[in-house]
Amino acid sequence: MARERVFREDQHQESHKLPELPEMNDFDPNKTDLDEELRPQLLQDVIGQKQVVDRLKIILDATRKRGDVLGHLLLDGPPGIGKTTLSTVIPRELGVDLQVAAGPVLDAPKDLLPYLTNATEGSVLFIDEIHRLRPAVEEFLYPAMEDFRIDIALGEGLNARTINMPLKRFTVIGATTRAGMLTAPMRDRFVYREHLDFYESEDLVEIVTRNAKKLRTTISPEAAAGIACRSQGTPRKANNILRRTRDFATLIHPTGEITSEIAEHALKVLEIDPLGLEKQDRRYLQTLVDIFNGGPAGLNAIAHSMSIPPDTLEDDVEPFLLRTGLVQRTPRGRVITTKGYRHLGLEPKPDPFPGMPRLF
Ligand code: ADP
Repeated sequence: MARERVFREDQHQESHKLPELPEMNDFDPNKTDLDEELRPQLLQDVIGQKQVVDRLKIILDATRKRGDVLGHLLLDGPPGIGKTTLSTVIPRELGVDLQVAAGPVLDAPKDLLPYLTNATEGSVLFIDEIHRLRPAVEEFLYPAMEDFRIDIALGEGLNARTINMPLKRFTVIGATTRAGMLTAPMRDRFVYREHLDFYESEDLVEIVTRNAKKLRTTISPEAAAGIACRSQGTPRKANNILRRTRDFATLIHPTGEITSEIAEHALKVLEIDPLGLEKQDRRYLQTLVDIFNGGPAGLNAIAHSMSIPPDTLEDDVEPFLLRTGLVQRTPRGRVITTKGYRHLGLEPKPDPFPGMPRLF
């Protein structure tokens, strides 16, 4: 059966008026380069996630009023959704110091030691990807979080002794894309836990519009809406698309304004389709169809076929495909849905396991 291309020329008729631009093979909507430049500084600048922000306001006000140290806080949610942003906003709001560490680079307890001994009273230690802490590092952190002390082993054999070292009272803010991978003792040490979810379109429109100003460009409301609804509910993707679109506008528009026509044209060149799927997302769907006959297929098998690490697929690709119902997770593996087939322009196959329970 002939496969229909996901991008049909007739969906983008206006764009042929614009000059041809080369393909952008280097475009990665998950790039973190732009993060610092556009990161909100205070809680009042954080857009969306209203319930989480409201709860955080209460916690921060209460902490300030008591003159206390904030309880440890765990933030979980997909990549690019605002975990680091909130972790930098909170110490700024409280007027305390911030140290930043990342789970995968803390190889041994000694790597964590400087952060703990440098922690000032009430300061925040942000640990990104906290689910990837090594067990020895994690165990070293437990007494630090619970009693603000650490046990340091000195010497070996008969001369071995342990020194108990007190620390300043501080707050750990842990960020994770996989709350389920945290060990129970680690999870239990967090007083507060917040889940950040994908953003509503109107919140992303506001983020794009505000950030266009920060990037000293103008954008029409229609163009902002066009970018917002193809950003997979993720501010980082919206920001990266905005920046690339601004490049097109600078080249094409006399005053550099991002019009809806220019935004459409840019999205086409960047190969982001009307649902917001990127090249890699469509490749995932196509792999499920071509190699696994629509599924069920295990994550590792799909990752191997695509030559992409399974973690990247699970964190960056699958959440949106599952959420939009293009793929389902079953006890036997991932399966492309009728909607998934149709999105690729293919005729759906009958359900191979009718009546099987779905995990998602
Ligand atoms: P994560 O840590 O969850 O991967 P970040 O906090 O680094 O994501 O967010 C990526 C970028 O998206 C930030 O630099 C910021 O520009 C933007 N962003 C995230 N959340 C918000 C928000 N609620 N309001 C405005 N911008 C946001």
